[in-house]
Amino acid sequence: MSRFETVIGIEVHVELSTNTKMFCGCSNRFGAPPNTNTCPVCLGLPGSLPVVNEQAVRDAMKIGIALNCEVARSCLFHRKNYFYPDMPKDFQISQYDEPICFGGYLDVEGGRVGITRAHMEEDTGKSTHIGEGGRIHDATHSLIDYNRAGVPLIEIVSEPDITGPAHARAYATELRNVLRSLSVSDVKMEEGSMRCDANISLREPGGEFGTKVEIKNMNSLRSLQKALEYEEARQAELLESGKSVTQETRHWNEADGETHSMRSKEEAFDYRYFPEPDLVPQAPPLSLIEEIRSSMPELPASRRARLAEDWALTDQQIFTLTSVDGLLDLVSDAVERGTDPVTATNWATGDVLAKLKTDGVDADQSGLNGHKLADLCELVANGTLSTKLAKQVLITVMETGKGPGEVVEEEGLAQVSDESELAAIAEKIVNDNPGEAERYRAGEEKLLGFFVGQAMKATRGKGNPQALNELFRSKLSE
Ligand SMILES: [Zn+2]
Repeated sequence: MSRFETVIGIEVHVELSTNTKMFCGCSNRFGAPPNTNTCPVCLGLPGSLPVVNEQAVRDAMKIGIALNCEVARSCLFHRKNYFYPDMPKDFQISQYDEPICFGGYLDVEGGRVGITRAHMEEDTGKSTHIGEGGRIHDATHSLIDYNRAGVPLIEIVSEPDITGPAHARAYATELRNVLRSLSVSDVKMEEGSMRCDANISLREPGGEFGTKVEIKNMNSLRSLQKALEYEEARQAELLESGKSVTQETRHWNEADGETHSMRSKEEAFDYRYFPEPDLVPQAPPLSLIEEIRSSMPELPASRRARLAEDWALTDQQIFTLTSVDGLLDLVSDAVERGTDPVTATNWATGDVLAKLKTDGVDADQSGLNGHKLADLCELVANGTLSTKLAKQVLITVMETGKGPGEVVEEEGLAQVSDESELAAIAEKIVNDNPGEAERYRAGEEKLLGFFVGQAMKATRGKGNPQALNELFRSKLSE
């Protein structure tokens, strides 16, 4: 540990999943052939005029309200000017000193993080550099896809309240959970629909802010934490050895696990912000703000509190249920059908999750649903299946989508609980093993396991172990 205090602020860009782009009617669908979702507005052709997407404004307010922000009664779009081929207009329409949402916070593990602002802007086109390494430096030529130009973005800027790499990851994780619960974006970091840039500096405890470095290109929550850990150590080493940190932008390289200098402060852009003359100020009426506020979905924090209280789950279980897509829905549906919440959760966070990970699929892509999970739990509760057999049935259900009852019938897996059937088996085993029976009667009680084991073998794992335990105990004391 170094003697310095770490100060981190994070900027998150979220692509909204609206039907159309921010300022034109082009489709906002990901994955279309290059340059097919374009028009004069998003290509910046002379004479074209932008029109604000109402759904994007609603989504922006929704995000602000979820992050405890104040929603501005009036806000403005600005032009952020810079020359780069991915921005055909040579400026990006963004918000500057009058954002739509400001002054909020988000409570996360490790402490509250202030939200400076959440503002609306448009995305740029996507450049692909052709050549070794995929970087611009060693490219022979570059391709540009303007399908992404003009896609609605919300930029969420945090206060420098984040105290370390783990805290940063907790913040980004909870932010992603909140955004997902609002259904405004698919928040996939690996596809770029949620992108994090981090500012990090070190200072003497309680002292003035140190020189900050901006890190870009983290494509997962894990790499966000790793990049910050690397940068924290790099800066501490510089300062410890009497050197100073250069204010610059650094690029995280997943392959070598290091950050590399991209550009220094001297090359920083002057964006010459000025109000966008083609758009009037946005002034959402109070009634609209209230309408959105009253129709907010349940947010992750209150959902977790409810689960802890209603279902008596551990923090770890709640964390898993709420951070894996579809898992909570699965358990909720099973509970609605009468399954005990703890039982359903144990299945979901145990065998179900393990199988999903093995197969690399989401919960809604597997053959299991809440109804089938409830049926499976019922088959265990009524003694038809042992836990071991139920695990086997679960795998088949998840792979084939068949109902648990159907699988049990087809594969003849039902547990044998029939007293007379088991009694006959027990009788035979005791008769076949007189030596062991003698020793048990003489006090070697742990031999009970041997007899039950023999019976399980005879029933090919389908004997009810509890019933067999009792049977042997009474038979051997005769
Ligand atoms: Zn367009």
